[in-house]
Amino acid sequence: MDPLEHASIPVLAYLAISNEPTWGAVAALVIGAVFPDLDAFCREHRSYLHSLLFALPLFGLACWSGNGYAPLFTVGWLSHIFLDFFTGVIPPVYPLSRRGWGISIRARGGPRGFGIKVRMVESYPDPRHDYDIEIGGSVALLLVTLAALLIRMH
Ligand SMILES: [Zn+2]
Repeated sequence: MDPLEHASIPVLAYLAISNEPTWGAVAALVIGAVFPDLDAFCREHRSYLHSLLFALPLFGLACWSGNGYAPLFTVGWLSHIFLDFFTGVIPPVYPLSRRGWGISIRARGGPRGFGIKVRMVESYPDPRHDYDIEIGGSVALLLVTLAALLIRMH
């Protein structure tokens, strides 16, 4: 999943459930949601910052801190891990174990019928590499998110 999707999805969820959304909360969510991919600069992508060993205790600390934005930052971080679980693997106890899990959901359809195949994926995080991906759908999602922000934050 690319940073545009990681930023847009929690913001749309926040805008849907918040009675009085604020720009500060949106900024905290977005920064938290894209922050975990900084570990792409480490030896392995989806490593330390994709581990629940770091994210869950920091979520607890953020809630305990009394700072209004810290929990939103960690909710954005946890949303990143949740979304990556559906687009590859996340290593929940990295660095104790490099093994990661995710769910692959594939839809297949055509003149002969339609089907959905769900399977658990188990592998190790990807080594760091350059990537070349199509982001047209992500840009469309970002534009929808920006429109929702303009409507809700007037
Ligand atoms: Zn990621």
